[in-house]
Amino acid sequence: MKISQHAKNLVPSATLVISNKARQMRAEGIDVLGFAAGEPDFDTPDHIKEAAIQAIREGFTKYTASGGINELKDAVVTKLKRDNGLTYARNQVLISCGGKHSLYNVFQALLDPGDEVIIPAPYWVSFPEQVKLCDGVPVFVDTAEREGFRLHRGLVEPLLTPRTRILVLNSPSNPTGAALTRKELEGLAALALERGFWILADETYESLVYDGYQHVSIATLSDAMYARTILVNSLSKAYAMTGWRVGYTAGPKELITAMDGLQSQMTSNPTSIAQRAAVVALTGPQEPTHRMREEFARRRRYIVDRLNAMPGVTCLSPEGAFYVFPNVSSLYGKRHAGKVIGNSTEFSAYLLDTARIAVVPGVEFGNDAHIRISYATSMANIEKGMDRMAEAVKTLG
Ligand code: PLP
Repeated sequence: MKISQHAKNLVPSATLVISNKARQMRAEGIDVLGFAAGEPDFDTPDHIKEAAIQAIREGFTKYTASGGINELKDAVVTKLKRDNGLTYARNQVLISCGGKHSLYNVFQALLDPGDEVIIPAPYWVSFPEQVKLCDGVPVFVDTAEREGFRLHRGLVEPLLTPRTRILVLNSPSNPTGAALTRKELEGLAALALERGFWILADETYESLVYDGYQHVSIATLSDAMYARTILVNSLSKAYAMTGWRVGYTAGPKELITAMDGLQSQMTSNPTSIAQRAAVVALTGPQEPTHRMREEFARRRRYIVDRLNAMPGVTCLSPEGAFYVFPNVSSLYGKRHAGKVIGNSTEFSAYLLDTARIAVVPGVEFGNDAHIRISYATSMANIEKGMDRMAEAVKTLG
């Protein structure tokens, strides 16, 4: 069969591949602990579920407007004002089938073949693949571990060309958890305005930040920056709603209209009942999110300490999200059962086979010195998993 170049060139999502493998091993009765998936282990709060159940009972089960119901767009407008201090009109908002879909729509609507998108590395696996699917060219900018994986103007400037269209700004970041300060954002904003590229602000993890860090939306920095920002967010992580598939974009009306047109031919509306649930999530009590954040903060402290106590492993304490990205490269070159472990893929395979813990190799995020461990799993699993990893690290000769 002739498969298209687009499909062939695509790298399947490594995090989903590994999570599926761990799930399969578990189905075979193997006791694997999963640290690969990027989803809260908490259940969706009851009041959100109830809204969906009520929508089903009312027969709210038909197509809606392709770009989402007005009630949900208004809820997004309210949320952006309340939490981010940003003012948008209803026609500047589009609801999509998850933040992933929102991002894909943005790239589809903005990129012509050969247009360049600057992606800070380490990066979330879907950014470069989505850009390539839209015939764009991902341009990677390496952030340094010694600088806390922070993106700043000086790193981006040398990479700009007349083809640069977008800078992806994912703060807090998946996989590093790094979140930028207002000052760092100001530098990037000034550059975007001077050189005329879009900032695509993926704020998926904005509500999961720790130690008093305050999330700042780059669009708040000035009116000019507001006009140059495309904001994407998702209900997946903040409300433990990964399976519901609701995300949104806020930005210039012209772009939103173009994205709506694309969406109307690709998926039509996001699920009607999930949209009703999303209204309640955004406008209802926010305590469940705060409680999740407190629990993540506790786990983060514990996991960072445990990792730093392992010889050959170093781990920064990230400002946000629910991942740690420890450096394990000083273990490369060590052996197990006569085999040398030479990179993050081999180290992760070793952890899965020997310690029965599933983590994601850093190379999938563009940095082979690291692995990504999600702490969106119970404290009991984290304790057991860290015991197993410590033992596995000790066993390497
Ligand atoms: N952006 C980032 C950085 C993510 O890590 C994810 C999910 O892992 C998403 C966007 C999209 O999430 P969803 O499609 O579930 O809304």
